Amino acid sequence: MERETTTPNGYRFRLVNIECLPNSANFNVIMDLQETIAELLPYLAAALPGCSYTVEAGVINLMDKGHIIAIYPTYLTITDVTTHAEAERYCRDYFQKIQEVKRNRANLQPVFTRHPTLSPLDILRALPKTNCQECGSVSCMAFAAAVFRREASITACAPLVQEQENYRDLFRELQRNGYQT
Ligand code: SF4
Repeated sequence: MERETTTPNGYRFRLVNIECLPNSANFNVIMDLQETIAELLPYLAAALPGCSYTVEAGVINLMDKGHIIAIYPTYLTITDVTTHAEAERYCRDYFQKIQEVKRNRANLQPVFTRHPTLSPLDILRALPKTNCQECGSVSCMAFAAAVFRREASITACAPLVQEQENYRDLFRELQRNGYQT
């Protein structure tokens, strides 16, 4: 499938089949920008929580609710969307984020290298690892992955919240990486 949508706002997007999963019902999105944002990337890197950015590579990467977002100077890619409406929403949101950063750039400290300091294993390490399922996940590993993908809040693990010290350290690290806690 390839269906292109043009918006009056300075971008257009198309849904494309996921090459490595030809039978998947989901799509990747390619969002083309009318104007380059090359100079804005270090400011976007400063403003987007949990992203990674290396200036030589010229791309910002981040996870957003299970989607991998890549931001290049003239286009963005968003993985694994299910519908055209979802693609439209993500494109609109990211275009708005870009416009916000453009407006606020004078108040942002540009960043030229940034890597997340937290992985799913770091989250797992802090969990009680009893697989009690109180959080609604089938295991602590599944819960750690869901938290990492920003699909679950760390506070859903009641046993961890009761372990004050581990909880405090992980909470601080999540905040440092831009997670909503
Ligand atoms: S509630 Fe906490 S300890 Fe229990 S399965 Fe979920 S993450 Fe593991």
